[in-house]
Amino acid sequence: MDNTLYEVAIIGGGLAGLTCALHLSKQGVSVLLIEKNPFPNHKVCGEYVSNEVLPYLNSLGLDPLSEGAVPISTLKITSPNHKTLKTTLPLGGFGISRYAFDTLLYEQVNKNCDVVFKTVESISFQKEAFEIATQDSTMYKATYVVGAHGKRSNIDKKLNRKFIAQKSSWLAVKAHYQFDFQANTVALHTFKGGYCGLSKTETGAVNACYLTTYASFKNYNGIDDFQENNMAKNPNLKHFFSEAVPLFDSPLTIGQISFQPKKPVENHIFMIGDSAGLIHPLCGNGMAMAIHSAKLFSELFLKQQQTKNIDRSLLEKEYEKQWNNTFSSRLKMGRYLQKVVLNETASHFGFSLLNAFPGLLKTLINKTHGTRLR
Ligand SMILES: Cc1cc2nc3c(=O)[nH]c(=O)nc-3n(C[C@H](O)[C@H](O)[C@H](O)COP(=O)(O)OP(=O)(O)OC[C@H]3O[C@@H](n4cnc5c(N)ncnc54)[C@H](O)[C@@H]3O)c2cc1C
Repeated sequence: MDNTLYEVAIIGGGLAGLTCALHLSKQGVSVLLIEKNPFPNHKVCGEYVSNEVLPYLNSLGLDPLSEGAVPISTLKITSPNHKTLKTTLPLGGFGISRYAFDTLLYEQVNKNCDVVFKTVESISFQKEAFEIATQDSTMYKATYVVGAHGKRSNIDKKLNRKFIAQKSSWLAVKAHYQFDFQANTVALHTFKGGYCGLSKTETGAVNACYLTTYASFKNYNGIDDFQENNMAKNPNLKHFFSEAVPLFDSPLTIGQISFQPKKPVENHIFMIGDSAGLIHPLCGNGMAMAIHSAKLFSELFLKQQQTKNIDRSLLEKEYEKQWNNTFSSRLKMGRYLQKVVLNETASHFGFSLLNAFPGLLKTLINKTHGTRLR
């Protein structure tokens, strides 16, 4: 048993958990961060970050661009039948590997609060405080718990969250490649049953990350067969997979990705990042939303803390309300866009419409993004 009573324990040190830990600890809150994997490590992600969070990251003392992150201003979307859309991104963004980005945050967090590398096995709430058990049977205590454990975790099973019982039809694959690619561009190449994002990272490597359905993937004999015989029907992906030199021994994969709605507060745990809701990756905004939700919770918590006696129930209601107001419509739009992209007829029509009315593409992008956070 660790007898310290932390004000806030954060479960999960991805972008949401790390940002929350940094924000709160910089304001004097005693924070414990529990993450199961030591840094640095690669994660399955498109690695394009919207600039909407850049001023906020700067305010926390973080500057991804000075770490070599690549400024990105253009979005290119292509289809297997040679259709192409190109637009400047209203806010723009930057390309950085999760390997570098998460580590950048972790190094700051580690200076400001306690971090342990363990897997949380259970969280119980009794008498206005939490007990958190890790896999080595250590018990940690905290007055508030933030769930930042990502899209799918053993914690969700323990909490019996609704989405975990529902079947999920998505899997994703990611790897870095050496490839001649325009640094200022993020490309989204669609193929039957999914789409693949390409963008440069701080090392000069191109990150290729795709999302597809099990229904589509199961017709092929593994990753290479899927890439060569399905994805390569898009000429841009054909060119990519024939020219690009893989930099990983083998690609990283994840399965059971769920886009079902989740609750932002469960069992008095404040959920941030993907554990509160995951936007379809084609929107390129999940990381910014994860960071934004950490800001939302941190600011509400600090505001309530000023009253000296935090009203837990009020804080929960207010967080839930603000989370829904800020993100619900973006998630809905993401689900809608995903359906259009994956339906051949709708997508064909969509390409023609957006080519005829280019302003519409920017409107759609704005509907899945926020404004610059300060
Ligand atoms: C295929 C794909 C492509 C994407 N591309 C993009 C993109 O280009 N741009 C973008 O903005 N977003 C993208 N996203 C979304 C983005 O990856 C997520 O929104 C973002 O990673 C969410 O951060 P997070 O901190 O909530 O979760 P994560 O980064 O997943 O962090 C969760 C952390 O919790 C830890 N954890 C879990 N369970 C436990 C436990 N029991 N105990 C201790 N630790 C635990 C995990 O180890 C992990 O480090 C993509 C998503 C997918 C699936």
